[in-house]
Amino acid sequence: MPAISFKNVSYSYVDGDESFLALEDIDLEIADGEFVCLIGHSGCGKSTLLSLLAGLSMPTAGEILIDNVPVSGPGPDRSIVFQSYSLFPWQTALKNVMFSIRQTNKDISKEQAKVRAMELLAQVGMEDAANRYPYQLSGGMRQRVAIARALGIDAPTMLLDEPFGALDPLIRGKLQELLLRLWNEGEGCCKTAVFVTHDIDEALILADRLIFMEPRHITREFILPKDRARSADAIVEDVRLRDVKREVMELFDATATGKEDC
Ligand code: ADP
Ligand code: MG
Repeated sequence: MPAISFKNVSYSYVDGDESFLALEDIDLEIADGEFVCLIGHSGCGKSTLLSLLAGLSMPTAGEILIDNVPVSGPGPDRSIVFQSYSLFPWQTALKNVMFSIRQTNKDISKEQAKVRAMELLAQVGMEDAANRYPYQLSGGMRQRVAIARALGIDAPTMLLDEPFGALDPLIRGKLQELLLRLWNEGEGCCKTAVFVTHDIDEALILADRLIFMEPRHITREFILPKDRARSADAIVEDVRLRDVKREVMELFDATATGKEDC
């Protein structure tokens, strides 16, 4: 039984009399514990698909089910990390993380929430910045706090929209490792992850399955070998990954139009 299923999902952005079809008849099933990367040119509908799954907007047609229940809005079963840092500017890094912990765990004491928040900040290498406000942090640091905050919601599904796009490669690699650890943390089971990126290497490191999108549609899928190493080195060394990379790069070339919106 797939944990997530899109059934004939379409979505149009409506602005006055104008309407723009961003997704058309999407059918997609994602298994419990699967790590899926959505990849494709800018403007093909990746963020739209993710925000529908997050419940931030509703399909114009079709439906999305999570464990057979239609998505009707955001919920504590899904944590969300976007590329733009969505921290509360008036709260410190620590308070930002504590807030999300207490949102989904009403019984936890303030002291316990603080201990847990410090653990999460340490995991993203931000414990020394716990008492700083967002304006006192660099973009990369804010993004790490945002990730710690999303992780504070210990949700079975993680939705991430180009969360590492703005970070330098070293930090990016570390956060990819951290994300894989957190995805895999459960005893014998993984969380479900849907991760948007336009970086092929990132998708090859992270995903169980890579889903390639062209405007409005899913056009190709690649199942990545389960027994591979999930690392940048493996992309160079593992011939199976090199083959997928070549195919995906050809798809990128074939679908480039030179226009920003595909
Ligand atoms: P991606 O994340 O793959 O870059 P998006 O899902 O953001 O793509 O956008 C898909 C399409 O919908 C694009 O053509 C984009 O211009 C359009 N779009 C996105 N947001 C809006 C909006 N708020 N109003 C109108 N069109 C939008
Ligand atoms: Mg996007």
